[in-house]
Amino acid sequence: MTDINYLENLRTPTSDDPLRILMSACLAGSPCGYDATTNGEYPATQKLLGQKTIKIIHFCPEEFSFGVPREMCDIHGGTGFDVLDGKAKVISDTGKDWSEGMIKAAFKMLEIARTEEIELVVLMDISAACGSQVIYEGNRFAENKIYQIGAGVCAALLLRNGFRIISQRDFASLEIVYSRMDPAHHPDQSKKDHHQTDWYKSYFEK
Ligand code: SF4
Repeated sequence: MTDINYLENLRTPTSDDPLRILMSACLAGSPCGYDATTNGEYPATQKLLGQKTIKIIHFCPEEFSFGVPREMCDIHGGTGFDVLDGKAKVISDTGKDWSEGMIKAAFKMLEIARTEEIELVVLMDISAACGSQVIYEGNRFAENKIYQIGAGVCAALLLRNGFRIISQRDFASLEIVYSRMDPAHHPDQSKKDHHQTDWYKSYFEK
């Protein structure tokens, strides 16, 4: 869940010293999705691109380890934290065990985050690599696909190492980031983060 206090205490960046954000490459417009697309358009995070006060560093962990195009994959038996601990696996659509490649990609992403002295991470939710709030529990193509609260493998490693993550659906958090990027921006208080939405509450309170 997003740390609002952390966001509210982010410094006000300048064009000489922009806020350093690590972003899922697909959110930054790279066609690195499994099907060589950007996985859709996300205006809320696109708004962070091309800003003088924000430096975007982007990375696609699945492209790093598995290329483009590739199969889709999901976590079976736990969350990304469990994959890192050897208690769950990342399995591709055709049943290949991609755990090792995903962990390798996660460590590459962590290396980038440290080298670039990243201040905030903005990731595509639901992904077995980049999900930070919600991921699938097992195969997303199962007849009764199931969501779980949890992080993908790369997000889990970043969280474990102290990095703060928001997703493309955390609209309230993004409003705070816009106000850091542009002090004239007043956060829209009507916006909600993913965990505050009716869907999230009704699904996970079942
Ligand atoms: S692994 Fe992450 S960056 Fe790459 S396509 Fe999936 S969500 Fe986007």
